[in-house]
Amino acid sequence: MHGNAEQKRLAKGLERLGAQKESLRTILDAFEPLLLAQEHMRGALLTAGLMAVTPDTDAFSRGMPIMVDRPLGDWADAFLASARKIFPVMAQAFPGISGGLGLVLHNLETGMLDPAPLMEACVSGDDVTIRSLARKLTLNPKVLALAGAYALRPILQVCGREAQEAMAEHNWDHGYCPVCGGLPHVALLKQSGVDDPFLKSHGAERWLSCSRCITQWKFKRHACPHCGNEENDTLEYFQPQDNTAERADLCKACGHYLVTLDVRDCVEEPVPDVAALGLIPLDIIMQDKGYTPVAETAWNKLR
Ligand SMILES: [Zn+2]
Ligand SMILES: [Zn+2]
Repeated sequence: MHGNAEQKRLAKGLERLGAQKESLRTILDAFEPLLLAQEHMRGALLTAGLMAVTPDTDAFSRGMPIMVDRPLGDWADAFLASARKIFPVMAQAFPGISGGLGLVLHNLETGMLDPAPLMEACVSGDDVTIRSLARKLTLNPKVLALAGAYALRPILQVCGREAQEAMAEHNWDHGYCPVCGGLPHVALLKQSGVDDPFLKSHGAERWLSCSRCITQWKFKRHACPHCGNEENDTLEYFQPQDNTAERADLCKACGHYLVTLDVRDCVEEPVPDVAALGLIPLDIIMQDKGYTPVAETAWNKLR
């Protein structure tokens, strides 16, 4: 989809959510500029001609995500451009780390911090490398990981845009993202393409959305994306009484939950980030019950 159209869809979705859930106003005010900046950056990278990465079909069919286990040095310039745009907006959403973000950017600008190993460590979830990069430059490793992930997101989205075609060819049935290997932060229940009246009650497809790059992929309805458990007696869900479109699927085998929005009756399907922000109150309930989100994000750990 064209960059501007996606930006408008995101802005409209955030506006609609703000009108529906007044209690989320402060959180939305903090995150809206950041989500818009990332979407703007995605559009800018597309306009600048950043190419999609063609999946290695053998590796992909064996479950290797498109951007994992490959050198990312070719995207160093794009990463720096993204960091320049995203970090100042991040600093406003997370004022407590604005100094740390400034240091990360300074080290990138002066060549002290090489973007390639940082990007590769972010994609592979390699905390040891993140900590070692941070230690050398006396940066806060948590800030470095968050900064890297946020600057990388628009790049992953642009590079991974052929994932849908690859998934159509090779059945992707994993609980992690086909583009970057990230874990899902939200699931959307969508209308199944099968138009059979006898299947009505089963006619929803469960689409997971990557917490790192928002790629969406179809996943089994009754399985835990975190541990793969498919046993009915340990898979449950929790639904708030006042909203049947919202639920959290939870796995008693591993103690993780995934918030889910049924979008079959939505006039316009919300983008996953907006859906996830709208489900923060459910995150709070589930964490109070002692469950852990499948993917921790900056907002579902906001407490
Ligand atoms: Zn991803
Ligand atoms: Zn599980």
